[in-house]
Amino acid sequence: MAEATPHRIREVIAHPLTQRLPSPSETSWGRYDRVSILLVEIRTESGLVGVGECLARFAPVAYAELIETALAPRLVGQDALAIGANWARMRRALSGRAGGMLFEAIAGVDIALWDIAGKAAGQPIHRLLHGESRAAVPVYGASVMWGGDAARVAETVDRFKEQGFSRMKIKIGAPVREACQRIAEVRAAAGDQIELTADSNWAYTLDEAVTVGRALADHGYTWFEEPLRPEDEDGHRMLRTRCAVPLAAGESNYTLDQSAPLVNDRTLSYLQPNITRSGGITEVLRMARHAAAHDVAYAPHVGMSGIICEAASLHVAAAMPNAKVMECPASANRFKSDLADLSPGATRVQDGAVAVPQGPGLGLKVNWDAVAEMEGLAREVAA
Ligand SMILES: [Mg+2]
Repeated sequence: MAEATPHRIREVIAHPLTQRLPSPSETSWGRYDRVSILLVEIRTESGLVGVGECLARFAPVAYAELIETALAPRLVGQDALAIGANWARMRRALSGRAGGMLFEAIAGVDIALWDIAGKAAGQPIHRLLHGESRAAVPVYGASVMWGGDAARVAETVDRFKEQGFSRMKIKIGAPVREACQRIAEVRAAAGDQIELTADSNWAYTLDEAVTVGRALADHGYTWFEEPLRPEDEDGHRMLRTRCAVPLAAGESNYTLDQSAPLVNDRTLSYLQPNITRSGGITEVLRMARHAAAHDVAYAPHVGMSGIICEAASLHVAAAMPNAKVMECPASANRFKSDLADLSPGATRVQDGAVAVPQGPGLGLKVNWDAVAEMEGLAREVAA
């Protein structure tokens, strides 16, 4: 008789990866020239290999140490397909409230385990979720950056249109007067047919956010993303009653416990977890299903994450009935273009949507030469 659990975990390997960005990313937080992620590789005794990604923008080598010393010993020898049990084992690796590096590390391992589960079943992950099985997910182009002048704004808007995006996001910051000016400028450049959203990355106080929110409502924006710092839940509730534009947030949450309060009372209209931060596919499914039960849309965050984040998000969005639209960053990023045989979403946009990968698991093959090169830079920076 065949063994009941052939897919035991043999090895968990962490690859910290760093790239220099060809064009810097600019938000209300500043300017980034270099960014990192962590790629998790899991091998089973049956010969399957799964890959996952952790959000680890800085200090990726620290994440590698956390995974190899605190998570791997709890996983080796366990059934890779018992994802829930493995997730619970990892959560108990460190005490303290949920969040931080531990949950980003768990996310990468969890995605790799789902990749293995799909490969073991010979099915793409979205088929294992028995949901909507959409062939494509609507996306928006991200982002028209905060810096720069009106000419650069118009140029980005035109480029996004040429790429096939019918929805786009702008970054805004302080001062408020300039943000309001930018909001009007982008609407003028985009025209009325394009769906626009704005993201402040917590740039404002409540009163400032009320002013910006009015400008967004006046110019027909679809949502106001992260207006306030994520811990200020009462501030979000007050803002919801003081401006007409729907609110979006969630990329700063790690778990359902953290996303639930503003979903329960419908302060948020869009919940935006990043699958490489919020405990992976397992926890994001909990968050997205809870949002669905409250008629709140699920709108995956991708940001500066890589192609594994994008693919995993596409699978969950393909399954969820409340998946409205997914972020699709359009700036050059080697974590999206060089790491696997799956092309970045921004190059695959058709009719405002991106096709869901149909191969087993995540539906991508990693380019291990690119991994080795970017791991070299991560280790060099840390040395
Ligand atoms: Mg954001």
